[in-house]
Amino acid sequence: MNSRYRFSPEYYQKSLEALETALALGAYRAWRKFDPGPGYDIDERYAALPALTKKDIREHFPDGFVPEGKDVKKGLENGEINFVQTSGSADAVRVTNIWDQAWWDSSERSSWKLNAHTASLATGNHPEAILANARNVGFISDDADLPFEKRRLARFLYLNEKTDPSRWTPRIMDRMLHELDVFKPVILEANPSLLARLCRFAAAQRIQVFQPGLITFTYEYPSSLHLRQVRRVFGSPLASSYGTTETGYIFMQCEAGKFHQNIDACRVDIQPLKKEHGGPDVGRILVTTFDNPWYKMFRFDVGDLARIDEKQSCPCGRDTGIILSAIEGRFVNATLDVKGRLVTLRRVDDAMGTIADLDEYRLEQSAPGVYTVRMSTGRRDRERLQRDVTQKLRRIYGNAAAISIIYEDFLCPEDSGKYCLAKPLFPINIEEYLEPQR
Ligand SMILES: [Zn+2]
Repeated sequence: MNSRYRFSPEYYQKSLEALETALALGAYRAWRKFDPGPGYDIDERYAALPALTKKDIREHFPDGFVPEGKDVKKGLENGEINFVQTSGSADAVRVTNIWDQAWWDSSERSSWKLNAHTASLATGNHPEAILANARNVGFISDDADLPFEKRRLARFLYLNEKTDPSRWTPRIMDRMLHELDVFKPVILEANPSLLARLCRFAAAQRIQVFQPGLITFTYEYPSSLHLRQVRRVFGSPLASSYGTTETGYIFMQCEAGKFHQNIDACRVDIQPLKKEHGGPDVGRILVTTFDNPWYKMFRFDVGDLARIDEKQSCPCGRDTGIILSAIEGRFVNATLDVKGRLVTLRRVDDAMGTIADLDEYRLEQSAPGVYTVRMSTGRRDRERLQRDVTQKLRRIYGNAAAISIIYEDFLCPEDSGKYCLAKPLFPINIEEYLEPQR
């Protein structure tokens, strides 16, 4: 067994059950020939199997993922499950999934113990405000503004009903800040780029903002630039909660800043990148869900890269499951340096995050060695800014990198509703960057 991580015997038992259940299903039938069989160690059996892609989900949905004895039609009729569409992040593949609210809630609850603040504040009845793109969650109303009570659902308040934050007027942002004061959420769950925009407004207007017990980030990679803008306004603890519609809650950032695996709800395998591209400590995240009665996600490629914590220990004391020192960003947001080596979003963002008074940026790579940075900023010393950005990016991409800068008043999110920080404008096939399967 993999000695690098600490797992309980139950974890291996659930891993085995998930493998056996999956290989009996239509979606995974063709994978059986890769399984070395029950005589082998469970981790070796997992490592020998392919990864599940969104394309596979589309091909085999729903019957290929539903275990024997479950009737999807009946489940839909009696309300046990729904079909939900994912917004299709940067890779733009829209996928329909089976949504089991009870399973989702239990996956969320088990993630709460991985952070001291969620462990003490989240009860399941706590008032929670959500600042997200209405395309991802909540109620959409781009033309008319929805009143407070039309944006309530159970214990939640959706602060935003727009699909594009460029539609936010000062009046709407005032309203959001006022509603935080009135609603007094224990937890504010936010898309980081949207919260950063609200915080730029609050800071410029010198508005005192209600401080929730915790701010959790979801939906997007939290840019260090955005975190700094949020920090100007909020003193609340911040934590990233990492999961997907397909797989529930996978990792939670603890109060010490590392990411702990939600071992009660899922198995995680990290398939390393080749050494020259940042491996073996950076790799792609493959998730196998536990105990979802309706929907068997097995080695699902969530599309993100993670950095495994070298020491596999954390000042918070939690020591079971995989510990990550960072999420490195989505694979579709990885670019290439002038020598063709992979550069994760986190490396770009860490560099851009050190540049003062930048509101937003987006880096696009149009060809090998050619990069364009779009930026919005109030800074006037543009020559110095340009020099600074070029120097920092050449340190990452190489001295031969051609870097041009375009100034924009405002950068909009992509059609998915999510904000893009970096991307190549040509396809990159992740398989070529990964260590081959054994
Ligand atoms: Zn920790």
